[in-house]
Amino acid sequence: PTQLNSPPGPRRVCVVGAGLVGALAAIYLAQRGWQVEVYDTRPDLRDPETATQAKNSQRSINLALSVRGLSALRATGLGLEEQVMQLAIPMRGRMIHDRWGRQTGQAYGVFGQCINSVDRAALTVELVNAAEQFENVNFHFDHTLRSCNLDDRQAVFLDRTTGSEVVVETDWIVGADGAYSVCRRQLMRKTRVDYSQVYIKHGYCELTLPPIVTASGKPQYAMDPHHLHIWPRHTFMMIALPNPDCSFTCTLFMPFEKFGELTTREELLAFFDCYFPDAVPLIGVDRLVTDYFRNPKGSLMSLKCHPYHYEDRLVIVGDAAHSMVPFYGQGMNCGFEDVEILFSILDQHGVTAIRTPGEKGTTDTRLQNALACYTETRHPDAVAICDLAMYNYIEMRSSVVSWRYLIRKKLEDQFHRWFPEIIIPLYTMVSFTQTPYHLAVLQAARQTQWLKRGIWVTVLGLAALVGFGFRKNLGR
Ligand code: FAD
Repeated sequence: PTQLNSPPGPRRVCVVGAGLVGALAAIYLAQRGWQVEVYDTRPDLRDPETATQAKNSQRSINLALSVRGLSALRATGLGLEEQVMQLAIPMRGRMIHDRWGRQTGQAYGVFGQCINSVDRAALTVELVNAAEQFENVNFHFDHTLRSCNLDDRQAVFLDRTTGSEVVVETDWIVGADGAYSVCRRQLMRKTRVDYSQVYIKHGYCELTLPPIVTASGKPQYAMDPHHLHIWPRHTFMMIALPNPDCSFTCTLFMPFEKFGELTTREELLAFFDCYFPDAVPLIGVDRLVTDYFRNPKGSLMSLKCHPYHYEDRLVIVGDAAHSMVPFYGQGMNCGFEDVEILFSILDQHGVTAIRTPGEKGTTDTRLQNALACYTETRHPDAVAICDLAMYNYIEMRSSVVSWRYLIRKKLEDQFHRWFPEIIIPLYTMVSFTQTPYHLAVLQAARQTQWLKRGIWVTVLGLAALVGFGFRKNLGR
């Protein structure tokens, strides 16, 4: 194996995963003076020859970016938020499509707040480019992490282009290698990790809804681009997010059994004509059939673990630490927030990249304490958002059309307008504030109690008034 010895100079950190969270972590580390080596099993997304292939194998083409993610981008001070927002399409609410093709809008926030549809590949490239501007950052694509020897502070990679093994010496490792993280597996070998993982019975398949080409040849959106479109059908649903090229990416979420039942063109078209009749002419019959049968059917899981670190040697962030079902649109936002919170804790603990002479091999207690603090700070929030995402799995495909949900939403929105600091809908707290997720859940539970009490007081008050009027009439 090739042995890369630690050179003199700043301390080295190895980031595993050049996805969304890994690339952002590389920027934060570079800004703090670390020598950053980023490894990813994938080829470089910026290479045109491999881009299409890599893009096709990625999960979800576009993502909803909201306040937490934007805050983490802003905190770099590099103008990343503005750059990314130039690629984004703001969505101010949900657009519910019923089975007859009628559309009803539901605003996300009462003050016009928006979530933003961004292209995953474009966002990743933006972050990798920003990280590469730092001379203390190097990217190594086509390198797959095989194992970590945490005792000797080494990471072992397979160089996929040469087939050789590369041993990397590093002071510590930031594991941002996604839901099937090798870093997490290594952590589990070294320390007592509580771990749970649940697959839901739904899978997903992406379909493209192309632009309409006008007589002048100019592409146009086939639906309102400033909404996240939802076709809720109780046991399954389809959603669509806009892309900058005027297309939409539709995602069909459905039990795997149902995917298994739709095996012919006729079965598929009969199903779509029955449940998504307005989408069929927009997608186009041939494209629908091609996309559905060609595109992979992805699985969805919810994963929690604790702790996220081992001594001063390894920390996991993003999906590696907490993978959630995508129904709250928070996976990436939460991963970006992980990075912002991790580095604010490292800064508070005075962790630095400066190597003191003769230090090699000794434990950096400041880093160790900071990572322990990070685990304890972040864990309740990661658990809360994983649970909320699972809850939204029901809300999006079913509750959004129930009268109880709609009345509650109307009431809550009205109270929020009257008392914006006191009553805040849960969705608003999650998507448009940085209230820690677990506190948002607690506050929402309190608000539900207040709302229930308020409704009872109103009902009893009205009943008393009616009763009083009735007695007065009797007395006449
Ligand atoms: P990943 O994006 O998975 O990146 C991990 C990186 O590590 C990859 O580049 C991979 O190649 C690399 N890697 C893996 N293993 C190794 C290895 N052994 N060695 C080296 N490199 C390795 N989130 C939102 O916030 N909003 C949304 O609207 C949203 N929609 C979604 C829709 C769907 C259908 C899905 C599936 C997810 C959605 N998410 C959304 C979640 C979001 O995609 C993830 O939370 C986010 O991608 C996590 O980023 P990450 O960098 O932690 O992991």
